[in-house]
Amino acid sequence: MPIKILPARLANQIAAGEVVERPSSVVKEIVENSLDSGATSIEIDIEKGGHKRILIRDNGSGIPHDELALALSRHATSKIAKLDDLDTICSLGFRGEALASISSVARLSLSSKPKDQAQAWQAHCEGRDMQVQVNPVAHPDGTSVDVVDLFFNTPARRKFLKTEKTEFTHIDEVVRRIALSRFDVSFSLKHNGKLLRKYPAVKAQNSELKRLNTICGKEFSEQSIELNSQFQTFELKGWLAQPGQSKTQGEFQYFYVNGRMMRDKLINHAVRQAFEGLMGADFYPAYVLYLTLEPNQVDVNVHPAKHEVRFHQARLVHDFIFRALTDSLNQYCQLGQQQPNP
Ligand code: ADP
Ligand code: MG
Repeated sequence: MPIKILPARLANQIAAGEVVERPSSVVKEIVENSLDSGATSIEIDIEKGGHKRILIRDNGSGIPHDELALALSRHATSKIAKLDDLDTICSLGFRGEALASISSVARLSLSSKPKDQAQAWQAHCEGRDMQVQVNPVAHPDGTSVDVVDLFFNTPARRKFLKTEKTEFTHIDEVVRRIALSRFDVSFSLKHNGKLLRKYPAVKAQNSELKRLNTICGKEFSEQSIELNSQFQTFELKGWLAQPGQSKTQGEFQYFYVNGRMMRDKLINHAVRQAFEGLMGADFYPAYVLYLTLEPNQVDVNVHPAKHEVRFHQARLVHDFIFRALTDSLNQYCQLGQQQPNP
């Protein structure tokens, strides 16, 4: 075959494979957009595990009428303008791919109203062509994204969807992770019309434990070791399960880098090393940890779904995490020993 440039729609569908793996990845991308828009309240409404419908509403900044159709095009973003911006990036998104990808494999409606715009508008797009229709709609300040019939036009991908129940379990987990990253935002999650999760916004810092309790359970939140450590411009905060109380593989292993949940080899290694010797080989440490460092210390542009990062001072970050955890664990173990026997 001769070389040809792919039609935009087809290019989007291929790119969608990287960002939109299943309903939970759609939820992740849309909720991250809501957070980037400054929303303080995000409502997530799922039908049939997301196979049928994913509807997400926020009260964020909204999208102006003349940018609505653009928001659905590939590489359209309001978050960066030049490569250097990546060094100072604080938003969760920056690739301008999510809405284009999702709309190429579903029927998508994007409704929005910025505060200073009198009328709300809705952009709708589906199928193979790039035709976006924009019509007036009734909508409060903020944005709604309505994703219907995911993968309706890519049967091969639709076949890979698991049962409603399994897909919803993944969505539930994504929402849990995001809710742990932003205590100041309220989230609700409905499935088939039933309100299943409610994470109200945490106003005061000392009530953070409330959300931790709701999400990770009483046992974890009441018995965990609180951690708060600084080194140069690095900061590590959060909670560790007491070594004896740890979980089966993977449960409650939440690590955030500048507000983004990560699964990273270097981080895993540092955490495991700190726990080594304190627990048996078949136990896994449980933790909810937040690492903050200057945006220019980390490269988030490594993985399309942004699960991985690259630290510019990898060794230093590794040792900082290891040291912070070891210090807290040692302190906890010493305190435990000082307590008189009953
Ligand atoms: P990215 O998040 O990487 O910029 P997306 O495709 O996810 O790319 O979104 C494209 C653009 O649409 C965003 O840059 C933003 O300007 C706008 N947008 C999307 N969702 C929202 C939302 N909920 N509120 C406000 N603006 C939004
Ligand atoms: Mg985005």
